[in-house]
Amino acid sequence: MTGTICSVANCKSNHAKAKKDGEIIRFFTFPRSPLTRKQWVRLCHRKNNFNPLNKRICSKHFDSNQFEDLIHAKLTNSVCSKLKKTALPTLFLPNKTEKVNSERNKRYEVRQRKEIVSIF
Ligand SMILES: [Zn+2]
Repeated sequence: MTGTICSVANCKSNHAKAKKDGEIIRFFTFPRSPLTRKQWVRLCHRKNNFNPLNKRICSKHFDSNQFEDLIHAKLTNSVCSKLKKTALPTLFLPNKTEKVNSERNKRYEVRQRKEIVSIF
């Protein structure tokens, strides 16, 4: 899939360049849930409204805790490729606001607890 580019406003990730540089970047399609999809669109901080259909966001924007297969990936020494249904891009975003940060911290706590449960 050459020509795949990231939808986040200030992100220069693209599939061809990553391949050339030997970077492992995955591109994720927008979620099916309308609510989560709206949040993704908002977090892209693009000036114009864009249609997220056929658009992608690269894996640089997702914290490792946002992946469903983090433990599996660690065990098999591979790359996470499955996002949680509720995953939101939180890293390397333009104009990061306080609101996003506090929301993220709250979620982070919940995630931590969930992970402890799932490990044992
Ligand atoms: Zn990106």
